[in-house]
Amino acid sequence: MGDERVKTDAMQIMGMFQVLPRLVVFDLDYTLWPFYCECRSKREMPSLYKDARGILNAFKEKGVDIAIASRSPTADIAKTFLDKLNITSMFVAKEIFSSWTHKTDHFQKIHSKTGVPYSSMLFFDDENRNIQTVSKMGVTSILVGNGVNLGALRQGLTEYNENVNTSEKNKQRWLKKFSGNSSSSEKNEKK
Ligand SMILES: [Mg+2]
Repeated sequence: MGDERVKTDAMQIMGMFQVLPRLVVFDLDYTLWPFYCECRSKREMPSLYKDARGILNAFKEKGVDIAIASRSPTADIAKTFLDKLNITSMFVAKEIFSSWTHKTDHFQKIHSKTGVPYSSMLFFDDENRNIQTVSKMGVTSILVGNGVNLGALRQGLTEYNENVNTSEKNKQRWLKKFSGNSSSSEKNEKK
């Protein structure tokens, strides 16, 4: 499938969901591209997983911001590859640094740069330990087995919508319990 075809399919999948995340964050190695960039040379020409570019383009087209959270120890190689692939300017934040935390500091930085709450983010990564820690922050986090693809996209948006619905229900329950009288806007609309 070409990039345009994937983009069309991805936009169709996005159209099936009530809400989209405000920000989608991607790991690099084995999520957007099928290698560890620390094992590669800057002189090489990298390639993305086959669905990756179409999915990135679809999010941009839908007005959803995208960002990178990578623990690669070779940020210079990663950034060179993003340039060579012509996708550097697509990302509102690029946090690429090695760290002992499993990306909690990456997400704190992304949050303070963008102002997007963790609950409005969706994250794709191929390492379970990153998924575990980041999901505890409130980010819907999806483990990818073979890079980001249309299946992972559908799964991510499904889980994101489930999480939004659950927190909305909890909020309503909380409001009912503690607010006593529910102020309605109907009164104002009638006059
Ligand atoms: Mg990875």
